[in-house]
Amino acid sequence: MGSALEIRSLPDPVLRQVCTPVTDFGEPLATLARQMLDTMYAATGRGLAAPQVGIAQRLFVMDVTWKEGTPAPMILVNPVISGRSDTLVTREEGCLSIPVRTSLVTRPDRVWVSWRGVDGAQQEADFSGFAATCIQHEVDHLDGVLCIDREEQA
Ligand code: ZN
Repeated sequence: MGSALEIRSLPDPVLRQVCTPVTDFGEPLATLARQMLDTMYAATGRGLAAPQVGIAQRLFVMDVTWKEGTPAPMILVNPVISGRSDTLVTREEGCLSIPVRTSLVTRPDRVWVSWRGVDGAQQEADFSGFAATCIQHEVDHLDGVLCIDREEQA
């Protein structure tokens, strides 16, 4: 995988940084996003945030269905969660930056999200089920928050 980036893992301090908004929507951003998708697929993940490859900027990639044979790559730049359902769901979350272990985390089952595409175009949508969990996990990364911070206390 020539275009795969190095995935940072704990205790790399970049994982604890609050990332800055993306302001340049040029070709370098598109290249980075493509490399992040390649890196995520190579690591068999479903989501990957920029700080996980050492870049403290607010973007992440995800594809929640590719393992089931229906790839749906998404690139979310400067994502903002504008609404959350009252209904909560607990799921087991893994993280490419925290090998070996998973965390049980309770989060809203549905979120409303706005973001920019890699071309800078404003987009918004609502997500439920696993996609909602994935988005909240990845937005947390942009604020230096990891799933282990939200883990259910047994
Ligand atoms: Zn993660």
